[in-house]
Amino acid sequence: MITSRTSFFALIGNPVSHSLSPIIHNAALQYLELDMVYLAIPCEEKDFKSVIRSLKKINCKGLNITIPYKEKVFDLCSEVSPIAKKLKAINTLKLNSHKEWSGTNTDIYGFNYPLKSIELITNKSIVLGSGGAARSVIQGLIDLNFSEIAIIARNKDSLNELTNNFANQRQIKGYVSNDEQTCSLIEDADLIVNTTPVGMEKLGSLRDLLPFGTNFWKSLNPKTIVYDLIYNPSPTPLLRFCDKKGCMTIDGTKMLIAQGAKSLSFWTDGLEIPFEIMYDAIKKYI
Ligand code: NAP
Repeated sequence: MITSRTSFFALIGNPVSHSLSPIIHNAALQYLELDMVYLAIPCEEKDFKSVIRSLKKINCKGLNITIPYKEKVFDLCSEVSPIAKKLKAINTLKLNSHKEWSGTNTDIYGFNYPLKSIELITNKSIVLGSGGAARSVIQGLIDLNFSEIAIIARNKDSLNELTNNFANQRQIKGYVSNDEQTCSLIEDADLIVNTTPVGMEKLGSLRDLLPFGTNFWKSLNPKTIVYDLIYNPSPTPLLRFCDKKGCMTIDGTKMLIAQGAKSLSFWTDGLEIPFEIMYDAIKKYI
């Protein structure tokens, strides 16, 4: 029951209305019998700084930060974990003992979570897209010791910025999506990760619903594992296509829950978080 003592966690971003974080977090909070709720709060850019500063004064214990604020929030934290500094992306804030925000990143943990339970050849990997989520995915692949990480993206500028961010990692190379080499990269890949939003739309021809179109995927090999960060729809058109080709596929549901569970554990000083309760809640909702 919400009482006069109930405090809260929140997701801040723009937009947030599509987010399933309130579903998984409120299921876990209820199960853990904590007197807290989790809200999704849309916030415009001009208000962002004042909203974050105000929230720490009104009983908010922790925040998730999403598009487009994962970088902008750095200035508002009194301390930031080394991994969030390296990736230049914060997705979780916690109110510390000085009533200031401490920032960290739980997306890498979330990305790696479903890969821990499968047999994985950590040789050749491909990341599609060069946006915010690609950073955490690349760090996750580095942590898993992949020998080669090819980033394929349509935007040369953000591709260069991303590869520069990992300049000291010799196993990382960037390719624009119309590069002739992409065909052999796809053919040889052990793991392909889609971090583009292509496939979130439910309607359209297959050409529009697969990242970089159908031709891009013509050399796909059934031995390749294909991981799509999108969790709704599930399976995505890409995963349905790859499944038919005989590939093992992974959607973004477990990543979403694992990063959320890690944030909740950070906020509650290491409480054991009920992953299955969160998983059931999202499956029931979708
Ligand atoms: P983002 O920062 O906007 O990056 C998206 C990337 O995809 C950019 O490189 C963008 O290129 C590229 N892109 C967009 N539309 C494209 C198209 N039609 N064809 C080819 N490339 C395209 O977004 P993000 O934060 O990285 O999130 C990306 C996706 O991952 C979203 O679907 C999000 O829901 C999902 N995600 C899931 C989880 C999870 O927990 N499961 C966590 C994080 C993100 P341009 O720069 O040229 O626009």
